[in-house]
Amino acid sequence: MDAARIDDLINLSNLVRDGKATNRRTIARQLGLRSTTVSELVGELVQHDILIETMARARGKGRPAAVLSFNQQRLGAVFITVTDQRLEASAVDLGLRVIGTLTVAPNRDADNLVLGQCIRQLVRDTAALFARDVQLCAVVCSLSGLLDAKRRTWCVSSRWPNMRNLDLGAELSGFAAPVWLIRNLDAELGGILAREPDMSTEAVLLLHWGHGIGAAYATEGNVVNSTHGRFCEIGHWGLGNGRGVECTCGNRDCLETVASLWSIGTQLAKDVPSIDQSERQFAVALRQVDLGASVVLGTALSEMIRITANLCRLLFPNRVILTGPFVQNPEVYTRFVVALEQAPILRSLDRIRVTLGHESPEAEISGALARPFATAFRNLLEGRELQASKAGLSQ
Ligand SMILES: [Zn+2]
Repeated sequence: MDAARIDDLINLSNLVRDGKATNRRTIARQLGLRSTTVSELVGELVQHDILIETMARARGKGRPAAVLSFNQQRLGAVFITVTDQRLEASAVDLGLRVIGTLTVAPNRDADNLVLGQCIRQLVRDTAALFARDVQLCAVVCSLSGLLDAKRRTWCVSSRWPNMRNLDLGAELSGFAAPVWLIRNLDAELGGILAREPDMSTEAVLLLHWGHGIGAAYATEGNVVNSTHGRFCEIGHWGLGNGRGVECTCGNRDCLETVASLWSIGTQLAKDVPSIDQSERQFAVALRQVDLGASVVLGTALSEMIRITANLCRLLFPNRVILTGPFVQNPEVYTRFVVALEQAPILRSLDRIRVTLGHESPEAEISGALARPFATAFRNLLEGRELQASKAGLSQ
């Protein structure tokens, strides 16, 4: 089938999915197509079980109009993300509705074998949450740390330091659905951009300071290098401070060795009462802390600001969104705002706008699933083998 016709089918489906049209006449008007063409396209989408056609209740004389709705349950994906020391998997349909979520908490000393088993079991159990007629079209892993997204390999994670180069493509090959890897920060920034169209003209830097440290960067509405999986991983930039502290990535004296929750959490516990290693509870405890009361926090903040200010001198973002538990502390946040606003070397440049971001699981899900769903949808319309199976029946 020619590409233009596939585009028409996709545009038509999107109109119905987004609630902008429910009948042929509106579709013809919005897409500028002849009514016979629209009828053909609708017929094809109904045949693919993508659109559902029902008859409206008759009002007065004449034939009742057909009402079209989008079948959100046509395809589904298993979405995996990392939260604290847990892997969390959700069954998500085409409408980005979460059908159900399961979690597993592998020990910190888990290696490739243990994590591989955990993830396989998690995907199997999560896929079983879908109704029988939902077709599993992707397993999408939105992960922290360093990835080789093209080789579907999870290279390094500060959560599970004994894991190295876990080949998730191979581990999850038995599900007969394509496996996608994306860095969780890239996914979250992609989701934020989709939600906030105003940002599509800006250069946006999303910075997370928590268990690990990393950033994602977008210009003109596109997340830079997101298909690669390792851009802006500033947590592993070298400080050259000569301390010789080993990092979870295998190198020494990375930024994370003096500033991440995994490295300074225990020391901080002496300064911050009732501290917990989970990011959320830590954020609550840290909000009240006087910055001067903790030397370790002061050092962490200085290094974070130095590295991120230099990152701004490289990327010149218009906007920086800060997330994670540390920046919930008003003093920490203010220090960031002051430092980053002064970061551009050229005084004539507009000031960087620094804002506090809120954790957004919805943004991460929509950002991570956009490409996998779009690809699977196009494959379905092109009549290609979906390389998929009925959810719950695989493995
Ligand atoms: Zn490192």
